Amino acid sequence: MFKMTTNILRNLAGRKSTRLYPRDVRETFDRVRGELLNDIQRCLFCGTCAVKCPSQCIAVERKAAMWTYDPFACVYCGVCVETCPAKSLHQKTLYRKPTTERVVVRMQGELKKRVKGASPEKDAPAASDA
Ligand code: SF4
Ligand code: SF4
Repeated sequence: MFKMTTNILRNLAGRKSTRLYPRDVRETFDRVRGELLNDIQRCLFCGTCAVKCPSQCIAVERKAAMWTYDPFACVYCGVCVETCPAKSLHQKTLYRKPTTERVVVRMQGELKKRVKGASPEKDAPAASDA
């Protein structure tokens, strides 16, 4: 009984071990694999990300230049980011905000003509910081 009372008093007086999320959001670490974004201007619609994704949450329609992604099926592993030859995918250090609506991200781009002897990274436009 004495031990329990000591613990209660210590917890009441000490620093809180939980936060009032979402009011108090903890600062994220530098290498957090958060929200996935596609810089669609750089995308080559090669389909590598769709093939490598372990959750099968990416679909690429090459002819229509359409990139589709289901963020609710994504496990944020970062495999697609690592394997994208155009470096058009990247992950923010913030997680997606909670939502009550299930959304699928559909991005329309443009098919680029292949230049003989050029590499995908050279073909893609320069990355933007936005
Ligand atoms: S791997 Fe990269 S370039 Fe290829 S379809 Fe996916 S996002 Fe586009
Ligand atoms: S982060 Fe992982 S699970 Fe999410 S889309 Fe990329 S490969 Fe798929």
